[in-house]
Amino acid sequence: MSFRLRAEASITKRGTVLLGKFWACDGFHEDRPVRVITHAHSDHLSSLGRSLKECEAVMMTPATKDLINVIKNPSYLLGGNVKTLRYEEAYAYKDERMTLHYSDHILGAAQVLVEDEEGRRILYTGDFRLPYTPIIEADILVIESTYGSPSCVRPFTREVKKVLVNLVEETVKEGPVYLFGYHGKIQEVMQILYEAHLGVPFIASDKVFQVSRICEMHGMKCATDLLLSSSEEARSMLRHDDPLLAFYHTSSRRHVNDGGLRIYVSGWQFSAACRMIGRNEFRVALSDHSDFYGLLRYVENSRPKMVITDNHRSKYGAVLAREIERRLNIPARPLPA
Ligand SMILES: [Zn+2]
Repeated sequence: MSFRLRAEASITKRGTVLLGKFWACDGFHEDRPVRVITHAHSDHLSSLGRSLKECEAVMMTPATKDLINVIKNPSYLLGGNVKTLRYEEAYAYKDERMTLHYSDHILGAAQVLVEDEEGRRILYTGDFRLPYTPIIEADILVIESTYGSPSCVRPFTREVKKVLVNLVEETVKEGPVYLFGYHGKIQEVMQILYEAHLGVPFIASDKVFQVSRICEMHGMKCATDLLLSSSEEARSMLRHDDPLLAFYHTSSRRHVNDGGLRIYVSGWQFSAACRMIGRNEFRVALSDHSDFYGLLRYVENSRPKMVITDNHRSKYGAVLAREIERRLNIPARPLPA
């Protein structure tokens, strides 16, 4: 029984999540005519060029398409047969049916549900965060395992936004505050601080600016009155160390000057909501993934007959599979092995 079920879902050595007979999620596979993209983070876009060239269809939500257009470039997706699918809208390929379900991770993020010809439900969560991600019941569950170890627990999750606002509010009076995060999360930070009405200008580097515009187009409140960091107005304010908030992608942390306070948002912090990590440097534990207990809660409520943990994008796939078997008594295995 479990072997039969396992054949319905797998994760290849390159991290492609295979569901049912036809679907390859977040990677390319020669035998799969349909590629599904769960969200626009780079570790979920691998081999996208090849998928665009070779797959019959490349599926994603409309927001994910808009994000890829700015993260890659506006003509990148033109090379393939891209189809957008709204949440809960069904798409059939031969005798299997696929639907995307909302995931609270970044704008446009989706879970992928495939129902095969025998009515089996095969689900891949993609990246997600509880409690605002709906838990989908499945027979076979493929789950992300970013924080899949019992050491990855954030008991302070509820306070994080408040801690972030307080830290920024207290320090921005003295001068610029630089904030660093990945695409999607840095816009969430922007939205949190926008809603705090701090009364200082918001500046963003080029890509962050463009991604913010897309987020705003899809209903987030983060890019109103946003200034491009390369504009004359922004450069003058930065030169004078004016009170302002400047938002950058994590990868540019070394290229941004040292003046002012620097705040990094990262889920890889479990000891406190906020920690000082250097002179004028703080790390705030804002995560767009569930912690260990969130992952277990998802599995428990999805009520699968078996679980596959993503052992490609996380070092904790094997630990999580072991803990699922031990604590929930559900067969689980990490893939790729
Ligand atoms: Zn992600």
